[in-house]
Amino acid sequence: MKPTFFCFLLLFLSLLLAGCRSVPLTGRKQLMLTTSEYENSLGLKAYTEYKAKYKPSTNAEYNKALARCGKAIAKFTGDTGFDWQFTVLETDIENAFCLPGGKVAVYSGIMKQMHNEAELAFVVGHEIGHAIARHGGERMSWGYLQSLGGVLVAIGLQSDLANDLYGMGTNFGVMLPFSRSNEAEADYIGLCLMSYAGYDPRAAVDFWTRFSKDSQSSLLGNLMSTHPCDADRIEAMSKSLPMALKLYEKASTKRGLGIVFSHGKK
Ligand SMILES: [Zn+2]
Repeated sequence: MKPTFFCFLLLFLSLLLAGCRSVPLTGRKQLMLTTSEYENSLGLKAYTEYKAKYKPSTNAEYNKALARCGKAIAKFTGDTGFDWQFTVLETDIENAFCLPGGKVAVYSGIMKQMHNEAELAFVVGHEIGHAIARHGGERMSWGYLQSLGGVLVAIGLQSDLANDLYGMGTNFGVMLPFSRSNEAEADYIGLCLMSYAGYDPRAAVDFWTRFSKDSQSSLLGNLMSTHPCDADRIEAMSKSLPMALKLYEKASTKRGLGIVFSHGKK
């Protein structure tokens, strides 16, 4: 065995052993080779760019609902060290996100599709779920490991074919199904967070059921492209609903559906 190969193999195995973290609320063990500080700095940079690209919304109803549910949900996220910010940005794009560090944006395009604040609480809870589970950092970590594994294969076998096969194997076997499990985890965290905050979790299932039916159309096309939704996902959420309802029953402040949006109609 070549010394270089051996060193890389040791590094590969020690990274696998050392870089492990538990996801809040689900307890899943995840690979984590990046730092929160690094991810949060990327989050802040991206947030600044989005806020320069789109104007803040002047819709008082949307701003009030996001400020209220954002604050209520953030209280139950544990010790993240995040400096939370919540903004409604004015654009017809139907999407929302929470960047590492707690920078949340909801586009007015998706607000227009929501019936009430509880649906918003689920969307915000889901996005916050991705951030506190550090799905971005986990994805980067797998990327590092994949690159290092590629170097190992190339040194060990000195064959381009072996390297190509390795790339295909990791892409199909590890990298792709990953985002589906991330979505399911963010849904679970979102359901828990909205329920702890006192929003009726049945609104979450209503919201996705309503829009998954229309996923082939342009309605919520952007949200679907970054957060693919299918029948399995709705089924998983329906199964988690009794657990979420128990949390909702115990919530000290009951908000129900919260503000029912008029969307400017009297
Ligand atoms: Zn998602």
